[in-house]
Amino acid sequence: MKINLSNIKKAKKLLNKNECIAVPTETVYGLAGNAYSSIATKKIFKLKKRPISNPLIVHYNNLQDLRKDCFTNSTFLKLYKKFCPGPITFVLKLKKESKISKYVTNKRNTLAVRFPKHVVLKYLLKKLNYPLAAPSVNISSKLSAVCSSDVKEDFGKKIKFVLEGGRSSIGIESTIIDLTKKPKILRLGGLKINKINRVLKKNIIKDINPSKIYAPGQFKLHYSPGLPIRLNAKKAKDNEAYIILKKTKTIKSNYYFLSKDGSLKEAAKNLYSTLRKIKNSKFKSIAIKSIPNEGLGETINDRLLRASKY
Ligand code: AMP
Ligand code: MG
Repeated sequence: MKINLSNIKKAKKLLNKNECIAVPTETVYGLAGNAYSSIATKKIFKLKKRPISNPLIVHYNNLQDLRKDCFTNSTFLKLYKKFCPGPITFVLKLKKESKISKYVTNKRNTLAVRFPKHVVLKYLLKKLNYPLAAPSVNISSKLSAVCSSDVKEDFGKKIKFVLEGGRSSIGIESTIIDLTKKPKILRLGGLKINKINRVLKKNIIKDINPSKIYAPGQFKLHYSPGLPIRLNAKKAKDNEAYIILKKTKTIKSNYYFLSKDGSLKEAAKNLYSTLRKIKNSKFKSIAIKSIPNEGLGETINDRLLRASKY
């Protein structure tokens, strides 16, 4: 994608003034602000109506910058080498001398960090002398945004600027892994767990539905299009939108396909946009045909299950 320099200049100017802007990432669009600024990070919570207790992910340009704020360890370095930049977020121990705003972590001594791959965001990060706190740009518990028009639909003029970056190529949030103790997965996401297992040479523990919630991705209701959802539906009723993984020969007006050939990668990419299309259609409820619970299918099912707690 070609970088539009005047957009980058505008983004930088606003961020330097402690404003929040929407930025593209390969997972979903983010609502970004200077992670070192309490003014900027407070605004993120307010705009998203996000409880202050839910910490933000901080986006870095490189390892050198990250080391100003966090301790790294050998597991982190192995995964970093293999998967970064990319759709993986690490929870690491925060350094005492770090300048990260206390709003980002809600006074925790740990920090969630990510190295985005999107060329536009990478270019912007390189031009800044601070990292960007950027959770997904959606109203808390609602659908995430995968293109600039989604952001405009949800926030209108409340967000001062949306940095254009085309459609998010992965379309689903990052996989979060906690590396502060024994490694564990806190949220399923765009990077498959078996790829992580292969690098670490073990089956990593999952803690995606804990009794004590420490990541909003773990909330029972999340990613919701605001309509009732019926999972594993063999058939749909006439007045229900029907989401199907693989395109079928028979096409009815209430059918929505996630992929042409059953690819789970393509389905993940199309998930939020499909739910959004249905939200903006005449249908008042959704039925979903079962999706294999493997690889990215596990992430898709996780999102659908949470979205169904309507
Ligand atoms: P979002 O960017 O909106 O998809 O959400 C960011 C995710 O990172 C949330 O699920 C956060 O709770 C999680 N997160 C951020 N900081 C931490 C942390 N220190 N420990 C655990 N999870 C975190
Ligand atoms: Mg989110």
